[in-house]
Amino acid sequence: MWFWNKEALTNMSALSSSAAPLDVLAIAAHRDDVEQTCGGTLLKMAQQGRRTGILDLTQGEMGTRGTAEDRAREAADAANILRVSWRHALDIPDGRVENTFENRLKVARVIREQRPRVVILPYWKGRHPDHYTASTLGYEACFLAGLAKLDVSVARVPSPAIQDASAANLPPHRPFKIIYATLYYDVRPTFVVDITELFETRFQALMAYKSQFSDQVAGKDLFPAQAEIRTRIEAMARFYGLLGGVTYAEPFVQKEVGLVEDLTMIPVKSI
Ligand SMILES: [Zn+2]
Repeated sequence: MWFWNKEALTNMSALSSSAAPLDVLAIAAHRDDVEQTCGGTLLKMAQQGRRTGILDLTQGEMGTRGTAEDRAREAADAANILRVSWRHALDIPDGRVENTFENRLKVARVIREQRPRVVILPYWKGRHPDHYTASTLGYEACFLAGLAKLDVSVARVPSPAIQDASAANLPPHRPFKIIYATLYYDVRPTFVVDITELFETRFQALMAYKSQFSDQVAGKDLFPAQAEIRTRIEAMARFYGLLGGVTYAEPFVQKEVGLVEDLTMIPVKSI
């Protein structure tokens, strides 16, 4: 379902082809993935006045706890906490994220509608097939979205921001930058984002998924208690913070090399 934050609700017509492009769009397989891997970074961008968005590929109907409707409500709450301007969930089956042309078209349609400058994808390796498939699917959709002759209006997305007839005329768009959130996989990041000031808020965004994370009986062998979750999340954020010389951070990989203008301004101490 579509989600608008309170600010955007006052101007719902803004969500058309004339809406301001997103500065940063995070794409992930499941609702609550973004909150864990790059929620602090999205909040940091929003605090700097950037327009941020989240595209969840699935609606969470396979979760052990709660229903897809519960997850939709919780995702909206989390999005408000992270101050994202736009959030949407596609209808790709949960547990069956496949890199098909049909799915690539759905994501490409969203890319053309929202015109992000930066796209954050999951890392391309991992334990959960949905996660690493979402990475390749997202990358290929970004590529497709830039093909002028591709008609994305045939892609069926739930409650499209732009009606099918107009979607045929959406101009091609490719993000300038694609980066990969690597928290779910043990790989050395190419950079980290300092979220020291935002760690608590990001944790609250994750805890908005009450059906998943509040202490309860259903699935208690699968899900750690809330105190344990906090310890784990904090340990990970601390670890990546340490790599960047700050308290808490989120890790990313970029495929491109870094470009430097001034050697004296390169951050992170060497010795
Ligand atoms: Zn996930």
